[in-house]
Amino acid sequence: MSIGVAILGSTGSIGCSTLQVLARQRERFRVVALTAHSNAELLERQAAEWKPAYLGLVNGGKRGSGPGARGSGASCLVEAATHPDVRIVVNGIVGAAGLEATLAALSAGKRVALANKETLVMAGELVTRAARAGGGEIVPVDSEHSAVLQCTAGRGRAELARLILTASGGPFRTWPPERIAAATVAEALQHPTWKMGKKITIDSATLVNKALEVIEAHFLFGLGYDAVDVVVHPQSVVHAFVEFVDGSVLAQVGFPTMELPILYALTYPARVPDAGTRRFDPVAAGSLTFEAVAPETYPAYSLGRAAATSGGTAPTAFNAANEVAVRLFLEGAIPFGRIAATIARVLETGLPGAADTLEAVLAADAGARRLAREAACS
Ligand code: NAD
Ligand code: MG
Repeated sequence: MSIGVAILGSTGSIGCSTLQVLARQRERFRVVALTAHSNAELLERQAAEWKPAYLGLVNGGKRGSGPGARGSGASCLVEAATHPDVRIVVNGIVGAAGLEATLAALSAGKRVALANKETLVMAGELVTRAARAGGGEIVPVDSEHSAVLQCTAGRGRAELARLILTASGGPFRTWPPERIAAATVAEALQHPTWKMGKKITIDSATLVNKALEVIEAHFLFGLGYDAVDVVVHPQSVVHAFVEFVDGSVLAQVGFPTMELPILYALTYPARVPDAGTRRFDPVAAGSLTFEAVAPETYPAYSLGRAAATSGGTAPTAFNAANEVAVRLFLEGAIPFGRIAATIARVLETGLPGAADTLEAVLAADAGARRLAREAACS
């Protein structure tokens, strides 16, 4: 019997890569539910090919033909995530909009293959608690966290000493800070090694993405922030290093592709044959280089680390401020340098509170968004 999969955000970069993987694994998995925000045309094409039992379009109503149930509005995400035939929910939604579906899936005892890191950052305590209480499990899709999971498979938390996540450094790694502050949208969208959605591509240029990943690693693997380091590695071949208590270090390597971490999140802890991705070749990979994160190049990264150690709702506010600032930057309303400045203003205003109830998290998220809109445009 094949395993039922729901894909939230099926029209996005992670969603489309997931369908690529599933197309090679049809005997193991079947698509039970697909959801998208507004790209009805692509969603209908995916539905025609995969014939899911449930199709959800957040922004667009229940139009369309074909068998299967249809949903619309934000509630379709929870309906898809908790469908009785679904065992694994791939959450490829971008931003805070993915939170409710992740919580619902975990509470219903499902595996969440989580790409949607923003929700683990905004509500890490709630998400990990929902998994414990509901019997669900969170398996990371993010390549660095998949690398850590692969290196630590079978080892206990007490054997882990430190994680080192790698970052490509984005398109502005070698630029002077004044030039970065004035970078255009087109320049910021030129990622050197990964082809991804726009929001995470901007997050990679600011290195906010890596700050989000440090927080993600903290909640996934239970390490303190002083045990989660980051190194810039422009070739994106080593995805993470794991140092154990005896000093030994393991790394997971491969040419950049999300299809491998997606497949592993689906089959974990097993591995299955798959011929779809480019096999690794050390000679073709060439020289691998590593450098420390330069704080003057990536001011928003330091803000994210500071929010992480503050804890409580500080990561919630950091994530919300960043989501607002990135959207304004992509709309051409603020310069690139204003992203970090906006986050800084939001984090300076008000003390973080406890992040142990959904009400507190949603209030902190909404408050930070309001402040960010004011700070960005004033
Ligand atoms: P994307 O913009 O390409 O796709 C986002 C998807 O989410 C789309 O299908 C869209 O319909 C859906 N969506 C957007 N807003 C929504 C809303 N309000 N309600 C419901 N659905 C909504 O983004 P992406 O690059 O695929 O990234 C998705 C997530 O995965 C992000 O959290 C990102 O950080 C993470 N991630 C992506 C990659 C990558 O290679 N693309 C790698 C690691 C992690
Ligand atoms: Mg990543």
